[in-house]
Amino acid sequence: MIYFDNNATTPLDPLVFEGMRPFLVKNYANPSSLYRFAQGARRAIEEAREQVARLLEASIQEIIFTSGGTEANNLALKGIALRSCAKGRHIITSQIEHSAALEPCKFLETQGFKITYVSVDRYGLIDVDELKKNIRPDTILVSVMHANNEIGTIEPIKEIASICRNKGILLHTDAVQTVGKIPVSVKELGVDLLSLSAHKFYGPKGIGALYVRSGVKLTAIISGGHQEKGMRSGTENVAGIVGLGRAALLAREEIKNNERKVRRLRDALEKGIKDKITGVKINGHPRNRLYNTLHISIEDTATESVIINLDFKNICASGGSACMSASIEPSHVLSAIGASSSDARSALRFSLGKYNSAKDVEKTLKILPAVVDKLRKLSSSRKVNKN
Ligand SMILES: *Cc1c(COP(=O)(O)O)cnc(C)c1O
Repeated sequence: MIYFDNNATTPLDPLVFEGMRPFLVKNYANPSSLYRFAQGARRAIEEAREQVARLLEASIQEIIFTSGGTEANNLALKGIALRSCAKGRHIITSQIEHSAALEPCKFLETQGFKITYVSVDRYGLIDVDELKKNIRPDTILVSVMHANNEIGTIEPIKEIASICRNKGILLHTDAVQTVGKIPVSVKELGVDLLSLSAHKFYGPKGIGALYVRSGVKLTAIISGGHQEKGMRSGTENVAGIVGLGRAALLAREEIKNNERKVRRLRDALEKGIKDKITGVKINGHPRNRLYNTLHISIEDTATESVIINLDFKNICASGGSACMSASIEPSHVLSAIGASSSDARSALRFSLGKYNSAKDVEKTLKILPAVVDKLRKLSSSRKVNKN
């Protein structure tokens, strides 16, 4: 099988699994218990917190473990909204956020908050001037994703951070697609809150974290036994947290090599596809784009047919977003970049990872042109029959 859907999820690194194993089978203690048996689990959690903090250039007190990227986004958006609603009820975000940010925003709209969805250009870059113009006295939070999961465009977070800082507004970024792929430093970016998820960088599913800059106050959205300093109650997912820590440690070691390797593969796939197939458009920013992501529209094809035919040949690709794949509506990201409906309905995303090889690319460059050829012949013969 050839797996080209690493923006949806990545395989677990065996080294990460080995790190988790003791906490799944042997050390099952509740980390909050007082006896010595529980101290191993507690220590492991705090070690993982340090590993995550180090990856982000944050301090350990600034990391809150959550059940993943979705919960981290929910905690950031709802947590700040609940905490700061006396100051204001206006939030600015972008039109191309992941549903894990858009849906909490929609929920907040039902609770009397006003949300501004800033537009993006044809490459998916946020309109920073529009963002600036929409700042109001009651704006409490700006939330813009670091990189888009569908088209891979990397947003100018540093620039947005300096605008927010000047206006005294908090900035959250959904960095689920960048943490572990490219160096992400909260200091360098200048953000106040940042979401990440382990399963997007070779860690386990169901664990993530929210970075909250020291001094930033938010209201918990899950209350209970006061774990994570009351910011996220519930017995800790010890194995998951250890897995996230390991994944963060590995990312620090591997990030440069992974980038070099994966970028080369993605570029080869991109060039091969452009050379071998006519009517291909590349979506996303030509330069400010994740090095692992190739998002294209293939004229006179339909996303579902291409994906199913690639699947017959054991190639896993995506239409853009795993979370949207069950819907028939074209992606909100492609609408936002102004893609035509035919470009949106023929969209295909290859997202590569460190376990891909040159052979994967080679095989795909044999199979995809044949698939496209077959589908185009089928559709043109159907048109002829109709006439
Ligand atoms: C995958 C993803 C999420 C959701 O993370 P989970 O850990 O699966 O909840 C959020 N934002 C972006 C940009 C993503 O790619």
